[in-house]
Amino acid sequence: MEKIKMTTPLVEMDGDEMTRILWKMIKDELLEPYIDLKTEYYDLGLEHRNETNDQVTVDSALATKKYKVAVKCATITPNAARMDEYDLKEMWKSPNGTIRAILDGTVFRAPIVVKGIDPCVKNWKKPITIARHAYGDVYKGSEMKIPGAGKVELVYTAEDGTQTKELVHEFDGPGIVQGMHNLNKSIESFARSCFSYALDTKQDLWFATKDTISKKYDHTFKDIFQEIYDAEFAEKFNEAGIEYFYTLIDDAVARVMKSEGGYIWACKNYDGDVMSDMVSSAFGSLAMMTSVLVSPEGYYEYEAAHGTVQRHYYKHLKGEETSTNSVATIFAWTGALRKRGELDGNKELMEFADRLEKATIDTIEAGEMTKDLALITTIENPTVLNSEGFIKAIAKRL
Ligand code: NAP
Ligand code: MG
Repeated sequence: MEKIKMTTPLVEMDGDEMTRILWKMIKDELLEPYIDLKTEYYDLGLEHRNETNDQVTVDSALATKKYKVAVKCATITPNAARMDEYDLKEMWKSPNGTIRAILDGTVFRAPIVVKGIDPCVKNWKKPITIARHAYGDVYKGSEMKIPGAGKVELVYTAEDGTQTKELVHEFDGPGIVQGMHNLNKSIESFARSCFSYALDTKQDLWFATKDTISKKYDHTFKDIFQEIYDAEFAEKFNEAGIEYFYTLIDDAVARVMKSEGGYIWACKNYDGDVMSDMVSSAFGSLAMMTSVLVSPEGYYEYEAAHGTVQRHYYKHLKGEETSTNSVATIFAWTGALRKRGELDGNKELMEFADRLEKATIDTIEAGEMTKDLALITTIENPTVLNSEGFIKAIAKRL
């Protein structure tokens, strides 16, 4: 069989621990036998980040700006324990944070739906993708404990020195206060990323805030989304046969529970934090969750939603057998290959991505799976495979 050719390289960001092991197996067994794989390789493994003073992370993000599509393996975010374990020069920042700061954008998380791994919510038939705004609000807030009676005000001092004040509360006893902010520019790029991703994936977009109560703060989110939709996306949505739907957050939550899924739910930062954990756990497993960073300029970085699966890696190092689920990492590759194919007009590459996803899902639906899924499946007597065995079973179907 002749291998599928690629014209533009993918930016490949290798990572750490068990996912680094899976990364190589996926390339060896599922990709390289079929594709003349063209990548620009960046080793984001912690050792190499340390050797390069984390320059490699910055370089990989800049390469993503150049080529537009990246695929990333899970990476260690160093903490005190990792400082000793890897003898680090510094406690390097989270690579995802560094990459996000350079590319800007929104993270979309979607479950991979498989028969036999049923969502707890019985009417959810299609995936629900959460798009979480990743800037500001309570995550960049400032807070005070108010010790006793007194007045709290918001004060804005313009560059020319003029001041605008707004009373928060006249305290007659102890209490608490919180100030937070967001930026029009950040909300605009959040909106554009969501609309673009909805068009890309041909799914409706839902957005919700509490604008009835928060008439300036949340209402600004609502207004910015509507303005950008009307000016730049309404026509394209019509053509694609998809819908933009705005409602109140409490109404959205109620509707989500009764829905059958199949849409993107854009959430403000806090709502996205809380709701993405609810949605992912209700769909079954973090190992069945994909994640993609979409920048407003049209750069895409695909990855698994889970970490480096450290506990399994230590077992692997001791020579013990592991049963680590590679589905989310495989889907990071297929997402990136499909997007690359789309940008290059490479139909064969796009079809390969579809086939590999189908082979992966068929393998699980035929009862061959890793231990994490075997524990929650409704399929009777599943065959529990080890990390490599599962990838080989997919290869056989492919
Ligand atoms: P984790 O790697 O997501 O794993 C937590 C637990 O979830 C595992 O111990 C395992 O449970 C289960 N699990 C996760 N992925 C699985 C898979 N593919 N197959 C089977 N089980 C899976 O989170 P962590 O242990 O908290 O973090 C480990 C490292 O990952 C940390 O250094 C953290 O900084 C990093 N991290 C990176 C990213 C990223 O790069 N995007 C994201 C999160 C965390 P059992 O042990 O019960 O089997
Ligand atoms: Mg959270």
